[in-house]
Amino acid sequence: MSINILFAAQADRWTQYEAHLRRALDETGLDYAIDTEMPPEEVDYIVYAPNSDVQDFRPYTRLKAVLNLWAGVEGITGNETLNVPLTRMVDEEGLTQGMVEWVTGHVLRHHLGMDAHIVNPDHAWDKTIPPLASERVVTILGLGALGSAVAGMLRHLGFTLRGWARSQKALDGVACHAGEDGLDAALSGAEIVVLLLPDTSDTRDVINARTLALLAPGAVIVNPGRGPLIDEADLISALDSGQLSHATLDVFRTEPLPQDHPFWAHPKVTVTPHIASETRPPSASRVIAENIRRSEVGEPLLYVVDRDAGY
Ligand code: NDP
Repeated sequence: MSINILFAAQADRWTQYEAHLRRALDETGLDYAIDTEMPPEEVDYIVYAPNSDVQDFRPYTRLKAVLNLWAGVEGITGNETLNVPLTRMVDEEGLTQGMVEWVTGHVLRHHLGMDAHIVNPDHAWDKTIPPLASERVVTILGLGALGSAVAGMLRHLGFTLRGWARSQKALDGVACHAGEDGLDAALSGAEIVVLLLPDTSDTRDVINARTLALLAPGAVIVNPGRGPLIDEADLISALDSGQLSHATLDVFRTEPLPQDHPFWAHPKVTVTPHIASETRPPSASRVIAENIRRSEVGEPLLYVVDRDAGY
């Protein structure tokens, strides 16, 4: 019997994804139909973006799984009408690689002090030599699919690395800390902090006045994770006092960032418009198709979300 796949995301996404999804699904050998509309009671799988029109899953009576197109799932984990497995996107060739490149670029910008030469209105001949990577302490909060890949690249460059996750990790060249007790050890004296945590009730405001005070004076925050990880008022106070020298922020509590938000005009804040990384249609389509194939042959799904943990 043919399986029915509903693509529930914005119309422009369908244009980007349709050919790639069909190609990847064809390669599985499954007999399938995929479209942006179909009767709910006939749908087996939903390829999903959290801001899609589908918010009530109860009419989808034969649904087997929801396959989220994005890595972040805070927009759907709390949906009590969803009673089937939910998977999130781990797309090593696209999403992960993009994040590794974005974080590496922004870490190197701050590590090397590039701004002093790119923005140098007084033509200062300042020969301050930056430290080597091994002399720079970088802490990564979140050592999942993205954080661990970022750690791998920064380690390759020689940075002195620390990391923090919910469970204890063992990553070569990274001093790994876990749980509430491990947070302070991960942050104490850190010079660059990269946030790659999900947005959950446990991670909200993890960067606040108390944790900012643990960092090395003049530290830098790089946040491609989620906006609610940071207490915004505390961040601005730390920038204004000099405890932080810069914050590079890709994600915000409200997106697009409102025009009158103080981050736009703050001289020590770089705003990027949630472009740190993106699910890439060719490779992400293969991940989606593989999970549908697994489900159909009774193999465990990849990247299943722990709804209780919220990610
Ligand atoms: P993962 O689920 O693979 O990793 C999340 C990490 O956070 C894990 O190491 C997890 O610990 C850790 N974590 C979760 N809760 C806690 C907690 N309470 N205390 C300590 N550590 C915790 O996610 P990804 O790496 O794939 O993605 C991370 C986030 O990046 C996404 O949730 C999304 O918000 C963001 N993102 C942003 C993008 C952008 O363009 N700006 C693009 C893609 C993703 P453990 O390993 O023990 O479970």
